[in-house]
Amino acid sequence: MVIEKHGLKPKVKSFMSNDNNQDSEITITAMNLLKNYPLCDRCLGRQFAKLGIGYSNADRGKSIKMVLLMDIHEKIRNETIEKEKVDDILINMGPISYNFYRSLFGKEPTYKNCYLCGDILDKFINDASEKILNKMKQDNIKKFLIGVKVNQNIISKEENLKSTFKISYGESIKNELKREIGKRIQQLNQESKADFYSPEAIYEVSFPYLDLREQIVSLLVYGKYKKIKRGISIIGPRSKNSILEDVIKSFNAEEVVVHVPDRDESEFRTLGKGSSIIFEIKRSKKETIDISMIEGHSSIINVNKIERKRGQLNSLFNKNYPKIYRVLILCEDKIEDESIEKLNNTNNISIQQKINRRDIKGVVREIKCYKITNNIIECLISLDQKLYIKEFINGNKTSPNISSILEKSCDVIDADLLSFD
Ligand SMILES: [Zn+2]
Repeated sequence: MVIEKHGLKPKVKSFMSNDNNQDSEITITAMNLLKNYPLCDRCLGRQFAKLGIGYSNADRGKSIKMVLLMDIHEKIRNETIEKEKVDDILINMGPISYNFYRSLFGKEPTYKNCYLCGDILDKFINDASEKILNKMKQDNIKKFLIGVKVNQNIISKEENLKSTFKISYGESIKNELKREIGKRIQQLNQESKADFYSPEAIYEVSFPYLDLREQIVSLLVYGKYKKIKRGISIIGPRSKNSILEDVIKSFNAEEVVVHVPDRDESEFRTLGKGSSIIFEIKRSKKETIDISMIEGHSSIINVNKIERKRGQLNSLFNKNYPKIYRVLILCEDKIEDESIEKLNNTNNISIQQKINRRDIKGVVREIKCYKITNNIIECLISLDQKLYIKEFINGNKTSPNISSILEKSCDVIDADLLSFD
């Protein structure tokens, strides 16, 4: 019986050789582990998880224990080892060795809990899977992802074990739990599917004290919107019969956040091809849209894509295209024709704005204005998407601006977003 590791020896030879060093690396390492610690099938098997494909760690652990048991039996029969030397190994193997133990020592073995998991892994995998599945059914979730948080004490124990016994083919308890719970859920319910790339929900379980956190991934609905009436706001406030209220109802969601590339001014219309809009539907219980719920708003909202997506939304809007506004501008006193001429000759000027503590730099490409009355002008203004039109007119934290070019205090009466190109 070799308890210590062999010296260097060509691996194939020692595996095939028929001398005293016939034990493989697997049996030597497993024997050393069990000499020191009681381990359940899963926790022993996990130390060799990368060997053999298509088996569970429980299969691996059980197989290794059976081989070790036969090996020990052979050595006892050949009298190459004394039974006292294997007492602790047999106890640490657990119930699989008990018949042999009784016949060898003529007494009852004392049971010891698994050093790593305390013998709760199988039950934990079952309980966690059932708990998650219940939650999935409740919330109508089919595609899921499992996250596992393992108690630090257990992680340290396992890491120490790995370094002490130079284990190089093992996997972590966290990995095993993630995989096994995912597998079990799919066994229990054929409709459930583990999905790493676009899960509908992420379930994080803590081990060993089973605590479950569910995070339902937001549903993103991409669309275009036109606003043909002034005095309404697309993004709120929430009121009865508002678009938001109907989208929330339609998706059976808890909350809907609306993202639009521009500030949603209620006195502005959005015409032309319309503007992009993304509804971020939080904790939605449904994935299919009940279009009749928002049909009443179809003249202003046109939904074209539904997608579950994780991550930041910021990058979804292209901030570089120019937009064209029609703006009606009122100034405090008479606007001279030369001033309008000056505006109309303003091409490609660099603008700096400081809005919501952000420094924004962009270009106003072109301005074309004509006079309506002495102190009202109507202008078409083409500017970078990131610039704010209202501030460009009234001059608030913007330089230069229409008021500064005209040398008068001016402001917006109303405006229409006409086009993005
Ligand atoms: Zn265990």
